[in-house]
Amino acid sequence: MILMLLGPPGAGKGTQSQLISERLGLPQLSTGDMLRAAVKAGSPVGLKAKKVMADGGLVSDEIVIGIIADRISEPDCAKGFILDGFPRTLAQADALDDLLKSKGRHIDCVIELKVDDTKLVERIECRARETIAAGGTVRADDNPEALKTRLIAYYRETAPLIGFYYAHRLLKTVNGMTPISDVSRQIDDVLNQFQHA
Ligand code: AMP
Repeated sequence: MILMLLGPPGAGKGTQSQLISERLGLPQLSTGDMLRAAVKAGSPVGLKAKKVMADGGLVSDEIVIGIIADRISEPDCAKGFILDGFPRTLAQADALDDLLKSKGRHIDCVIELKVDDTKLVERIECRARETIAAGGTVRADDNPEALKTRLIAYYRETAPLIGFYYAHRLLKTVNGMTPISDVSRQIDDVLNQFQHA
């Protein structure tokens, strides 16, 4: 099964993808995590992505499409995977369709996590505070300026994907404002209906 989580920054895509990944035994493919690893490793991709990411902008389609193309060709993706943070532009969505088609595969379900903007800002500020309290390193893009840029990028580039996947009859919307366990239950309901369809 190929699943995708769609939603603005701070909607809980990472948390929910991880839970689905554990439940279904499918790998979670987070382009954000892969890019952060590339930045940390100082690889050529990381060097190109570092500043754009810290500023809250989008890394080029070419780079992220390349990363995903390589990743989904790995053996652990053979039985399916969960896309977390990819695609983020219509060009990425088109490239993903082409990639999957070339392998005789397709997206099974796109889950939209719907959250209020005020809640997003609160969540991201809270994530930064909790990380500091735990002695961790706050994400370079978890600050008010970068968050504004990330939200603008989301509404400008990524939000159109909701209509795109709705039109493809793949979109299922869940309320992302409820506690983590409840969002997870809503996603289970979607996946159950889906598996019994
Ligand atoms: P995330 O962890 O999903 O919030 O991603 C962190 C940052 O990585 C984003 O703000 C972007 O700068 C970059 N990024 C992650 N995924 C993508 C993508 N699909 N397209 C472009 N940039 C991305």
